[in-house]
Amino acid sequence: MKELALSCRSIHKRFNGTVALNGFDLDVRDAVLVALLGPSGCGKTTALRVIAGFERPDSGEVAVRERVVAARGTWVPPEKRRVGMVFQDWVLFPHLDVYDNVAFGLGSQGRRERVGEVLDMMRLSGLERRMPHELSGGQQQRVALARALAPSPEVVLLDEPFSNLDAALKAEVRMEVRAILHEAKATAIFVTHDQEEALAMADEMAVMDAGRILQVGTPHEVYQSPVDLRVASMVGDANLVPGDVTAGVATTALGRFPAADVPDGPIRMMVRPEEISIAPAADGIARIVDTEFYGHDQMVRARLDDGNLLEVRLLGPHPDLHVDATVDVTITGRPRFFAAASIH
Ligand code: ATP
Repeated sequence: MKELALSCRSIHKRFNGTVALNGFDLDVRDAVLVALLGPSGCGKTTALRVIAGFERPDSGEVAVRERVVAARGTWVPPEKRRVGMVFQDWVLFPHLDVYDNVAFGLGSQGRRERVGEVLDMMRLSGLERRMPHELSGGQQQRVALARALAPSPEVVLLDEPFSNLDAALKAEVRMEVRAILHEAKATAIFVTHDQEEALAMADEMAVMDAGRILQVGTPHEVYQSPVDLRVASMVGDANLVPGDVTAGVATTALGRFPAADVPDGPIRMMVRPEEISIAPAADGIARIVDTEFYGHDQMVRARLDDGNLLEVRLLGPHPDLHVDATVDVTITGRPRFFAAASIH
């Protein structure tokens, strides 16, 4: 088991009347890239700022590599925490060249070697004397990352690092940053509200809402086995079909399904759009109301007799599955059940 690079325990933080963090817990192991994913205003930036030392928590504890840096009676200032931060705009010191930007946080001993090493890793060698305005956007980002990694921080924090990039550049920069962080064996947390970005980039996802973490796991774990309805609907597309469980059997508009270990009562059955197949049938249980074609696949929406909409993801062309076609519905995946009471 890898060692813990960072741990946050039960952190609370309020701003006047607003609760920003409400029992925030997070452990990050060495050399893991964590996506902190959650809706706007759920406290992601505040969590990063508390970890970095730009905000004091009202209560709770932050430890960087077992050294407590924030707790009741303990306060280590940001520059002494061994935590690096990269801001949304990847801002550089405009009056310093590449070399001096990267050398900024380093002591004099071994500075030249370390800057050379980091620039080499970022494929920036030869650009040492360029000023920031003489660099491309991608190069500026790599310099900002080099500056954050140069002092070998225990953890690097990136606040919405890709949100200002256009779609074409975004995919490329994401994968490049991911490769660099892995190559440097850096431990990093990046904030995002884009679930696709979190799924594609992260080794682990920490899904957050209302000031606390709801679930931490690999993208596969979180997508396959969300802990509750909030996570199910925040990560990936999910059909949440209403139903009732009695004695281990769920009854829904899509039929009856075994639901062993699920307590009796109203439920939502989660089925991902790719876990459903549909086929034209004159007496089918749903009618197609629209289709969205994405090239590599398409999303079909079908309305069930009870009025609920079902999203179905289909690969390949299906000329017979057009709007107004009546269809039969088959669940091909494993449905998951959540108590309907957990909806809010
Ligand atoms: P976004 O994705 O929109 O950036 P976020 O998840 O990063 O949001 P935070 O910026 O951490 O959320 O904000 C959490 C809550 O705390 C919000 O309700 C916000 O309005 C509030 N908040 C954050 N900083 C301050 C502040 N300095 N003063 C007052 N309220 C604040």
